Amino acid sequence: MLGLMQNWPLLIHKIIDHAASQHPDREVVSRSVEGPIHRIGYRDVRRRALRCASRLVKDGIKPGDRVATLAWNTWRHLESWYGITGMGAVYHTINPRLFPDQIAWIANHAGDRILMTDLTFVPLLEALADKLPTIERYVIFTDDAHMPPTKLKNAVSYESWIAEGDEDFRWAEVDENAAAGLCYTSGTTGNPKGVLYSHRSNVLHSMAMCSPDCLGLGARTTILPVVPLFHANSWSIAFSAPMSGAKLVMPGARLDGASVYELLESEQVTVTAGVPTVWMMLLQHMEKEGRRFSSLKRAVVGGSAAPRAMIETFESVYGVEIFHAWGMTEMSPVGSIGSIKPALGDLKGAALFDVKQKQGFAPFTVEMRIDDDEGNPKPWDGKTFGRLKVKGPAVAAGYFKGEGGNILDANGFFDTGDIATIDEHGFMQITDRAKDVIKSGGEWISSIDLENLAVAHPDVAEAAVIGVFHPKWDERPLLIVVPKEGRECTAKDILTFMEGRIAKWWLPDDVQVVKEIPHTATGKINKLKLREAFKIYRLPNT
Ligand code: ADP
Repeated sequence: MLGLMQNWPLLIHKIIDHAASQHPDREVVSRSVEGPIHRIGYRDVRRRALRCASRLVKDGIKPGDRVATLAWNTWRHLESWYGITGMGAVYHTINPRLFPDQIAWIANHAGDRILMTDLTFVPLLEALADKLPTIERYVIFTDDAHMPPTKLKNAVSYESWIAEGDEDFRWAEVDENAAAGLCYTSGTTGNPKGVLYSHRSNVLHSMAMCSPDCLGLGARTTILPVVPLFHANSWSIAFSAPMSGAKLVMPGARLDGASVYELLESEQVTVTAGVPTVWMMLLQHMEKEGRRFSSLKRAVVGGSAAPRAMIETFESVYGVEIFHAWGMTEMSPVGSIGSIKPALGDLKGAALFDVKQKQGFAPFTVEMRIDDDEGNPKPWDGKTFGRLKVKGPAVAAGYFKGEGGNILDANGFFDTGDIATIDEHGFMQITDRAKDVIKSGGEWISSIDLENLAVAHPDVAEAAVIGVFHPKWDERPLLIVVPKEGRECTAKDILTFMEGRIAKWWLPDDVQVVKEIPHTATGKINKLKLREAFKIYRLPNT
């Protein structure tokens, strides 16, 4: 027997319809690429998204076609996602920090037909246009007054283009399982792979993200996503903020500490989200300038491990609660987030930070397990490592165009490629990427733990650990550090600091001080590049 409830497909346009009807004047505030701060309410975001949708139809775009965006976080970029999905097409976010050849590769693989972009990236695209044969038109997120002369094919300013659109357009009523978004994994090994989100997966994931233990969004929230829309589906914020009526503050192209701080204060932001590197820049700015937060309550940190020192500084010095999150493009992207359960409610000081340092627990919609190599479950005791696997309505079932073949195990779980422990309370802790863990004499050493400890040293700004060849132990850890501005550090100093705080055999065999550590396009430490840079390096006494 079927239930007698209405069939209300989980389509993305329902989100902006709801925001426009319930929160019409709630603002989307952007630092525009042209410079000035721009304000618009959800009612008008919807109107403009309708124009965008109808204009895409006029350009011959069909449901299922891919429309690329290569752009910063602004209201226009947000509108375009609703416009594209609202007529049944698929937004394909491209990360501008990728190498030009990688951008061309994924645009071709995706078969993008239109590319929407910011003024910032016009020169990059002009240099690349010959390699982008599938793109029929470039829409530049600006108005005619700021439109640069360009030879890009059928280039038009977004404002004049949507002016020819129709506000009375009717959203496409596609199947809720239809494709809505496409985002490629950064592909540190092999070619990038496309993760294809559906309307349903985006709506369900975003609903989960609004909840108090996740982003904690509501009509009184003001959220600033430092995380770009092009990074792993904007961590849901392009959907979860309008869905909950939260005011949305878009930082545009300026993600340095001073610019982010200015917006956090001027717009009285209460929740923010981003990767550890942006928080590192923000904290350095605050320390240097002696600043405080007047409104910020919650900062979500994810994408790579949040160092304990960073969590402690936010909470103890600045009174901002840190929610440490883990996820990946394949998971829409959030898989776990670090709220505190009542069973742990009384923890204080170091014991509380022990928990906060973990990557949190899975929200409803994510099933999680740790397995051995044969797929047998490992115990949730907080000590036993296993392969972290996940299942859920917003977890990839396969990659675009079947790349990589079957990606699910016999139980229908996706192997994340991360190694983790889960404790008796369900708190998961990433110990490493399977490919980054250091295998010393048959035992595993967590590079993340060592990096966390190293950045707790008062003179260290950033740290990375890689395994290097050792004739007896196969691999031993090499610690690479960047000192804080104006400070110096020595290997001896750092090793003395680390001694006694970790198992003796985990202590790095050497420390190298460098000016800079390479990062990936999503702001993570680029271990691949680091390993290459230290290819001919030999440990002392080997
Ligand atoms: P990209 O490299 O394009 O950002 P993803 O966002 O999909 O790709 O990267 C996912 C990976 O990032 C995870 O599998 C995990 O290894 C790492 N990661 C994400 N969040 C955390 C975290 N909080 N702690 C440790 N590692 C993390």
